[in-house]
Amino acid sequence: MSREKVIVIGSGPAGLTAALYTARARLNPLVLVGDLLGGQISLTYEVENYPGFPEALTGAELVERMQRQAERFGARLEYDSAIAVDFTRGSPFYVKTNSQEYEADAVIVAVGASPRKLHVPGEAEFTGRGVSYCATCDGFFFRDKDVVVVGGGDSALEEAIFLTRFASTVTVVHRRAILRAGQTLQQRALGNPKIGFLWDTVVEAIEGDGVVQQVRLRNVKTDEVGTRKTDGVFIFIGHAPNNAVFQGQVAMDEHGYIITDKWMHTSVEGVFAAGEIQDSLYRQIATSVGQGTAAAMSCERWLSSRAG
Ligand code: NAP
Repeated sequence: MSREKVIVIGSGPAGLTAALYTARARLNPLVLVGDLLGGQISLTYEVENYPGFPEALTGAELVERMQRQAERFGARLEYDSAIAVDFTRGSPFYVKTNSQEYEADAVIVAVGASPRKLHVPGEAEFTGRGVSYCATCDGFFFRDKDVVVVGGGDSALEEAIFLTRFASTVTVVHRRAILRAGQTLQQRALGNPKIGFLWDTVVEAIEGDGVVQQVRLRNVKTDEVGTRKTDGVFIFIGHAPNNAVFQGQVAMDEHGYIITDKWMHTSVEGVFAAGEIQDSLYRQIATSVGQGTAAAMSCERWLSSRAG
């Protein structure tokens, strides 16, 4: 069993920032990267609203910069995932990964959230065969094809706009007639000649033969049902917190987000949380960075107070 001062679980903006700050506080943090270095921003093509970068940069480049900055001050990145924890006996906390067991004086949980599923017939069957949750990853495969985007939030419109680089047509299927997305994205999407909208409409099934060929649709106002031919279905209907490993270990709200106080402390003394695992409200790179900073500073203060 390896002994660590601080383990940061997760490597999105919150995790990498917590790593930077705890590294600069000479706490020699170990970062358990998880499935994807950088988390959701790695899947974002362009980041336009992170302060300090007036020309947009790619999500991958921002992640690479954050990683380099954390490592420059001594953060150690381990390409492994936490698969079990025991916080019930207090510090030191037990953390198990696929390949190692650790004890840590303090833990910062920054495991983020994952795309929510539609849970309709065909979704699981055609994932990777026309159904996608990442336009940046898969858009290229839909050159000159017709695709459907499900959702009406910022993600759906941002990714719909991105998909017009490749696809001939992009049809946004939204369950209401009012978009949730911000005005800037709305204007850009509504003004894009390749993007069409189906309002008050839900996808009830995804169908095909080996690959996606059509979606079954229902108008929620009229109950009219129909099908629409499509080569791809991109689903952007929000996110769910990646809380599986932490069930029963720290307090969560009714939606499964970890509850923190303003010092980013969880219900367990010495365990902090930052980013989308505890924030269902803002979910911005900038807010996650701020929460990662706060968690690291509180962690450092908590460890110093124990050291007396
Ligand atoms: P979101 O804002 O929660 O929007 C989810 C969308 O999916 C909503 O339009 C919702 O419909 C729809 N939806 C939810 N469940 C559905 C279901 N079962 N069937 C059909 N439609 C469903 O999620 P998001 O777009 O992923 O954005 C998450 C957060 O990241 C937001 O705070 C957003 O501002 C932020 N973000 C910002 C940017 C940017 O600033 N450039 C880019 C991406 C994301 P209703 O509208 O009817 O609820």
